[in-house]
Formats: sequence, C-alpha cells, structure tokens
Amino acid sequence: MNKERKVNITNETTWRETTPGGVILDAGNAEDFKTGDWRAMRPVWYEDKCKHCLLCWVVCPDNSIKVENGKLAGFDYDHCKGCGVCTKQCKFGALDFVPEE
Ligand code: SF4
Ligand code: SF4
Repeated sequence: MNKERKVNITNETTWRETTPGGVILDAGNAEDFKTGDWRAMRPVWYEDKCKHCLLCWVVCPDNSIKVENGKLAGFDYDHCKGCGVCTKQCKFGALDFVPEE
C-alpha cells in the first residue's frame, strides 16, 4: 500500500498540512573535511588595497575568510571551495580570482 500523503498546496495551506521532514543525526560537518581540494580557482588578496569592509567575509558560504580584530586576515584555503563570490563582492580591487596551480 502506498502511504505517500499528497497535499494540494493553496494560499490557505499552513505548515500543519505539509509532509513531515526528516532529521539526520551525525550528518557530518564540512569543517572535518579539507574541501579546498575541490577548488579550480582561488581568491588572491591584495592587502594594500583592502579597506577591511568585510563584505567579502559576509558573503562567503564556506566561512573561509579569516578575520582577526575586526580586520581581514587572509583565507582558509583548506576549506575555500573557490566559488569566487567574495571576489565579485570586493569593490576595491583587493581580491583577484586566479586558476589553481
Ligand atoms: S571586500 Fe575587499 S576591501 Fe572589503 S574586506 Fe574584502 S578584500 Fe578587503
Ligand atoms: S572563493 Fe568562495 S569559498 Fe573561497 S573564500 Fe571566496 S567566497 Fe569563500
């Protein structure tokens, strides 16, 4: 017997009618793996041009931009996947995006 419950979503549908989701315990943590190995491109920081606005830090999806005492302090290349979002965010020419060697 198919136990799948179907809900027709309308503007009146509340969360109570939706299908329960699942919770995975011990799913792992990206911090435990050196995901930087996946990178094809890498961000390069020009410290002399940096204004330490930290807008690059805000957008990094992998928490791979290091900040010390409220200032940019470099990259965690063990975990940076090279998405390039930070380099698009910098308006001061302080970040370049180059092929991984
Ligand atoms: S966005 Fe650019 S200027 Fe701002 S902290 Fe990052 S590298 Fe520095
Ligand atoms: S390239 Fe992507 S993952 Fe790497 S530091 Fe920039 S925003 Fe973070």
